Parts: sequence; structure tokens; C-alpha cells
Amino acid sequence: MIVMVINSGSSSLKYQLFEMNGGKVLAKGLCERIGIDGLLTHQPAGKDKIVTKLDMPSHQKAIEAAMSALISKEHGVLKSLNEISAVGHRIGHGGIYFSDSVRIDDSVKDAIRRVIPLAPLHNPAAIMGIEACEAVLGKEIAQVAVCDTAFHQSIPKKAYSYSLPLDLCEKHNIRRYGFHGTSHKYVAQQAASFIGRPYESLNFITCHLGNGSSIAAIEKGKSIDNTMGMTALEGLVMGTRCGDIDPGAISSLLREEQISVERLDEILYKESGLLGLSGISPDVRDIELAAKQGNTNAQNALDVLCYQIRKYIGAYMAALGGADAVVFTAGIGENSALVRANALRGLNRLGIEFDEERNNNCKGGPALISTDTSPTLVLVIPTNEEWVIANDALRLSGQKLQ
Ligand code: ADP
Repeated sequence: MIVMVINSGSSSLKYQLFEMNGGKVLAKGLCERIGIDGLLTHQPAGKDKIVTKLDMPSHQKAIEAAMSALISKEHGVLKSLNEISAVGHRIGHGGIYFSDSVRIDDSVKDAIRRVIPLAPLHNPAAIMGIEACEAVLGKEIAQVAVCDTAFHQSIPKKAYSYSLPLDLCEKHNIRRYGFHGTSHKYVAQQAASFIGRPYESLNFITCHLGNGSSIAAIEKGKSIDNTMGMTALEGLVMGTRCGDIDPGAISSLLREEQISVERLDEILYKESGLLGLSGISPDVRDIELAAKQGNTNAQNALDVLCYQIRKYIGAYMAALGGADAVVFTAGIGENSALVRANALRGLNRLGIEFDEERNNNCKGGPALISTDTSPTLVLVIPTNEEWVIANDALRLSGQKLQ
């Protein structure tokens, strides 16, 4: 049984095709520069990438290009598109409307549209991706929405409320929603299996550290806090996003620089974070190298990142009243032994005894990187959001594996 997973961005669209029997990725790809010119990178499993320039004026054309690649004679992996049983869509923002994955119908599309003011770039793209699939695969195809915010709907009011005037918060749906929920839930469940104890009996602090990063506090299977907020801008310093800053800096920038809101968004989302701090790159690999070569701005960017991770681990230890495990995942969390070490070293009094050698040798995990006597375990667990989305799509489509 074959399931397609789609992650639509404003000008890009990622896809992955899974054979659910055995969980094999058959092909994956990326449509870029949608609405500008168009570039398709298609990779059948075990083969080289094929990069093609194609006209992609819309998401529908991008989906058509991806589907053509999947059934093409030279590098296709399907005989016909009828072989696709279901499609799972990653939805960036579900607002208060979704606390689990859901089969898409008109009311689900309406709810995703209602959240557009909170996710003005991502949610319109998600709708375009869904409607493009309807147009190409037919309206009967089972489509499922998997929201990044859904897992965090259990966050209690005291942790999701922002102290702005109540009427403004209500009018504009201003509150913490939290993000990366699919990943936080998945790695916590994987960590519970790794430990060999029931997921609902454990407290976790999960650190999803990628281009976008967030840390979650999970109490007995339920998210109770996340460093990301109303948008995916709050919390940790990220590749190009600013993370926590004093909101006063925003009004000050608007006043002193006389810039538009659009320009401000560009600064906060695209020019800040590790890129802004280091002045060289948003990528931790580049920053680690530059810091090693003596670049002091790069060193500071790394220091800020590790300090913030450490600070939030401490905060969530307090919020949970202690954790059974701290879990690291995503590009940086799985691969940077340096970031993990600098975030965790010397936390013994908090009950975290981190093992340098295990950390250096963990190779992306799953692995234990705390000492055998550490009261709180530290784990590295690889995330796999696409696989979770594919499974939810299969489950909610009502079809079963033969
Ligand atoms: P996304 O959030 O786009 O899914 P990923 O989870 O793939 O991103 O994380 C990408 C980031 O992971 C890169 O920008 C880079 O900073 C970091 N990364 C990947 N490999 C390494 C590595 N070996 N060492 C340090 N950082 C790494």
C-alpha cells in the first residue's frame, strides 16, 4: 500500500512516497521556486537525484510535475497514480481546531483557512497543496491533515496565555500554540520504547533542534509546554529566526528604522538567529567550523544556542517537577555532539549526568548518552515526521495493510 506525504511551503513543496508494508521510501523530491520559474529535484530510492527546470506557476503545476516524475518511464517508481492509496499533508498551523490528525473534508479546509491570519505563508500553501492533489488524483482520494500544533493543544492555560489585554487576545487568537508536535510526540514515544516503560508513565523534555527548533515539556504523554508560541518564531535561537527577544525591540526597530511590517518580518524570520549572530551562516556545521578557526561571532552564536537549550531544559525540569529523560532530535540534535555537550555539561545537580564518550560516539542514535547512574536519562532519537504523517494518513483513510 502506497502513501504520499506532502509538505507545502509558500514557494516550495516537498514530497515523499512510502510503501507502507515495510516502511520503505520509494522516492522523494522537492519542487522549488513555485510561482517564480520552477525547479524539480526528484530522487527515486537508491538512485541519483534528477534536477529539472520546469515551469511551475502554481502549486497545482508543482504537484503535476512531481506526479509525472513518479510515473515517468526513466525514473518513475509507480506504473500509475492509482497506486497511491492516501495522501498525508503536513499543516503548519491548526490553531485551536485540531488536537489530532484528521481526514480532510470541506470543514477541515475551512478551519485551515480560518487560521491563515496566524500562518499567512504556510496555510494558504497547504490549502493549495490539498486542492492540487484533489485536482490531480481525484476528489475521492483519502487526504489527511497532520498539524504541527495538534499535540500541543493539551498545553494548560497558564502556559499558553500571553499577558496582553484579554479582548485583543480573543479577537486575534493570540496565545501559545506550540510547534513540531509530530516530532516531539514521535521521539517521546520512541524514547519510551527505548527505555522499555509505558509512554504515559513518563515525563520527557524533547529538544527538536533543526533549522527551526523547539523544546517541549511532556508530562505522562501530554504536552504541557513548548518554547514556540503563537508563531514559529518564539523560543530558541534558530537558523535564521530570532527566537526570544524583548518585544520592545520590535517597536523600537519599527520606530527607529522606519521599516514596514513586511521588512520587519523578513528580518525576524530570515536574517536573524544563528545567521544574524554569526554573520556567516544559519548552518551549525559552518558555524562550528568558523568558531574552531577563531571566528568570535561564530563562537558567540554557538554559545547563545547552547545556553538557551540549557536554560529551557532547566525551566522544563522545574515545570515538570523532574523528567525521566531529555531527548535530542533533528539535524542539530542528532548530529552535533558539541551542541549537546555544551548544553548539558555540569548539570549533575539537576540530576543530569552526561557521558562525554557516549555523546561523541552516538552516531545519530537511537542511543543513550547519559551515565549508567544518571537519575535523568539523556537520549538521542532520530525523528521521522514524514513516516508519522504517512501512518496517520493510512490509519485515517480507513484502509488496512494486507
Ligand atoms: P529542518 O528543520 O529543515 O527539517 P533539519 O532537522 O534537517 O532541518 O536540520 C538541519 C540543520 O541541522 C542544519 O542546518 C545544520 O545546522 C544541522 N546539522 C545537520 N548535520 C549536522 C552536523 N553533522 N553537525 C552539526 N549540525 C548539523
